[in-house]
Amino acid sequence: MNEMTTELHKFLFDGLPVRGMLVRLTDSWQEVLRRRDASETFEEPVRQLLGEMAAAGVLMQSNIQFNGAVVLQIFGDGPVKVAVAEVQPDLGFRATAKVVGELPSTDSGHLPLDVMVNVGGEGRCAITLDPQNRMPGQQPYQGVVPLHGDKREPLLQLSEVLEHYMLQSEQLDTKLILAANDSIAAGLLIQRLPMEGTGNLAGGQRSDEDEIGLNEAYNRIAYLAATLTREELLTLDADTILRRLFWEEDIIRFDPMKGLEGPHFACTCSRERVGTMLRNLGREEVESILTEQAQIDVGCEFCGEHYRFDAVDAAELFTETTDHPPGSKSLQ
Ligand SMILES: [Zn+2]
Repeated sequence: MNEMTTELHKFLFDGLPVRGMLVRLTDSWQEVLRRRDASETFEEPVRQLLGEMAAAGVLMQSNIQFNGAVVLQIFGDGPVKVAVAEVQPDLGFRATAKVVGELPSTDSGHLPLDVMVNVGGEGRCAITLDPQNRMPGQQPYQGVVPLHGDKREPLLQLSEVLEHYMLQSEQLDTKLILAANDSIAAGLLIQRLPMEGTGNLAGGQRSDEDEIGLNEAYNRIAYLAATLTREELLTLDADTILRRLFWEEDIIRFDPMKGLEGPHFACTCSRERVGTMLRNLGREEVESILTEQAQIDVGCEFCGEHYRFDAVDAAELFTETTDHPPGSKSLQ
């Protein structure tokens, strides 16, 4: 039987410059899907892509020392125009997509990136690190990679795109296995630790021979990780996966992160933010909408929450002297 709770497992390979993480988003991922209106349910290949993005986002957020959101976005030129997963430093995550038109049919429920987001070869994947307390004028850090490799070969899986990004932008050798269905979104990350580290490595005293040995260790472990099938990742618990893959390795495991300390569904939308958006739209535009309908109803694409502003709320939006939006009683 599957573990029912969402968990993030971190581990090290004793004496080797290799670390790993395994994430299983279960109840938290199901919550993302449940919050979509029935009329707006994504097709299965999109649900799988979003699940993989959520799992990958959690792994990347946990992998970096950064006090801000990790935002994974795919901009497509196929039926999937945008897919996004955001993970906050406390591992609260949310995900959504914009799909226009039909996806090709599939029996497995899985579709490669080239038919969903990279039909014309113009698809892009953006990884943004958005600082939590951004100073005015400060830009978030963003890396953008195409959905093809160095020899222009199309990358068909999200895991390949992110491995490519980690190597190009962070100079980090990374092996990623990702998979998702409607019950679970899961990921395994194996990474070679940066060479300049102190830790258990020999500092700057390393010879070429040592370096080759360290590469061999990473290569062996990455090779073992790559034997994990999507099916195994989706159905086996963390203990079983790690035992099966790495039974000959000495693994140091940390207590799994779960509950509110682990990955969990969370949306950052608020009435205040929607009020700001309406204010930016301008008084004329807002009033013109309100002559056609009794209230402005703004739905959050991530969590399904609805924020409604009637004529009185709107008038307050444009006359207020404080920053507080109308109707919000629990600010600060
Ligand atoms: Zn929301």
